[in-house]
Amino acid sequence: MNARFTLSSLVRDNILDLVPYSSARMEYSGTQAVLLDANENPFDTGYNRYPDPLQRKLKSLISVLKAVPENNIFLGNGSDEAIDLLVRIFCNPGKDHILTMDPSYGMYEVCARIQDAGVRKIPLDRNFASDLSTIMNMTDERSKIIFLCSPNNPTGNVFSPAIVYPLLDKFPGLVVIDEAYQDFSSFPGFLPDLLQRPNLVILQTFSKAWGQAGIRLGMAFASEEIITLLNKVKYPYNLNNLTIQYAVQLTGHVEEKGAWVDTIRKQRQWLTEQLSLLRMVTKVFPSEANFLLVRFTDHARVFEWLRDHKIIVRDRSTSRHCEGCLRITVGTPEENKILVNCIKEIDK
Ligand SMILES: *Cc1c(COP(=O)(O)O)cnc(C)c1O
Repeated sequence: MNARFTLSSLVRDNILDLVPYSSARMEYSGTQAVLLDANENPFDTGYNRYPDPLQRKLKSLISVLKAVPENNIFLGNGSDEAIDLLVRIFCNPGKDHILTMDPSYGMYEVCARIQDAGVRKIPLDRNFASDLSTIMNMTDERSKIIFLCSPNNPTGNVFSPAIVYPLLDKFPGLVVIDEAYQDFSSFPGFLPDLLQRPNLVILQTFSKAWGQAGIRLGMAFASEEIITLLNKVKYPYNLNNLTIQYAVQLTGHVEEKGAWVDTIRKQRQWLTEQLSLLRMVTKVFPSEANFLLVRFTDHARVFEWLRDHKIIVRDRSTSRHCEGCLRITVGTPEENKILVNCIKEIDK
């Protein structure tokens, strides 16, 4: 247990004092009544009513899927919404800061900069790992949130429990673990620890393994107190009914997601083997996600060659310890073959 963590002293005062917008549907969520409270059009179009601000039906289904109580779940317009809300709830502009790993996902820094919060970047070592003292030495009383992405984007590795647990014990702010790629990992992740850890927030998403990046649906799991703060600050109707209703159907298709994940993991292995055989490839980093970080002898030539053949990959060569690296998403078996064959043409 973290003896130095008290949520109320971490939250911005104006957020603690905030009286949230009280929406009509917050007070009444039944459907059988004469609803003359929200200035909606009364004629049934299927979508004339405002959505449930707390998405209770969808949360009850996600609660079963994830084995997390409904009151520990926040749903957002992508997990990016949760990242943005956390920064706004905890970081006083011009005073507080977040900590991110370098390299990692870019949205943590962008959200912090918009809030005019500081960003301290913890330099990962050549294995894209860090240790407790390096991280703790970069914190002070103005450190509000540490964002850990695990499996990490763009590096593909996971953070070890041997670092995460001591960090949760010692750091008196929030530790946000972004598990966008958790479904692809063979390591367990940190959701089972949620209820024992008051300063832990876990982010997951429907955008990757679930194949639903277009519906914009992200999840945050945290203590009831943190979830209450997120609900207080979010837009009243942050999820629309098209997304909510679609996602309710989706939760009945877990096996399809499982089958995609199996295929993508096998394809990740196949791609790793095929790319490792190429002369221009000097390293394929091990990955627990649905992408590979690949180092080339001449990454710019490969990037342009692929682009000229209408194959788009991500240049990550300017990121720390990613010299010469491209990030390649695992595609369908056909797409992966096209990719490998295309690189083979210049791999002579
Ligand atoms: C793709 C990705 C997300 C997903 O964000 P959404 O807003 O849910 O689509 C979150 N975190 C990381 C690290 C990602 O790579």
